[in-house]
Amino acid sequence: MKCPYCLKEVPENAVKCAYCGEWLIPEAKYIFQFTPRSATRIILLWILSCGFYLFYWFYWNWKWINFYKKTNLNALFRTLGLLIPILNICLMAGQLGRIRKFAKDAGIEPTFTVGWTVLGIIVFSNLCYLFLPIHPAISGVCAFLALYPLLDVQSTLNMLWEKNKRFGKEMFQSPITMGEILSIIIGIFSVIIVVSIAGSIK
Ligand SMILES: [Zn+2]
Repeated sequence: MKCPYCLKEVPENAVKCAYCGEWLIPEAKYIFQFTPRSATRIILLWILSCGFYLFYWFYWNWKWINFYKKTNLNALFRTLGLLIPILNICLMAGQLGRIRKFAKDAGIEPTFTVGWTVLGIIVFSNLCYLFLPIHPAISGVCAFLALYPLLDVQSTLNMLWEKNKRFGKEMFQSPITMGEILSIIIGIFSVIIVVSIAGSIK
């Protein structure tokens, strides 16, 4: 077949044009950009971005939910809302509920429940803040335990994308995206700012 953008000959069923780099299947842009991710990749990005990656994770889930469900939910506001107590519980539950339904509609039994996932994130992230000034090591363990429930959600998502036979194993090896790099940079900068503000108060 011919690439509709640069008109060069590309293999049948090609997902991305090797010449001009355009996505030949619109949904592939969304799937490759973010959704199929190994647990190792998420943990690494989470560490490198000092936790900020999770905001990006929620952000991109809204993006593909909008894409597939043809909805127009504001991904940015729904991500920033995660900083507001109580509202963040509603926003997380809203997204996780949609992911569960999405999986069930595709014939996949979700590997997580909304209630336990949200509870785990809230309890352990609060313990993380609580222990931070007194015991940083325990605080770090709590931070990881807050991340852990989301790895379960990701494994459901991975099953979902894997079921889409148009995309092979290579989607798990997609190179680091611009958004992932940005989340690392923003995460590190936020920590520097918070640490320097805390230092100047003392
Ligand atoms: Zn092309």
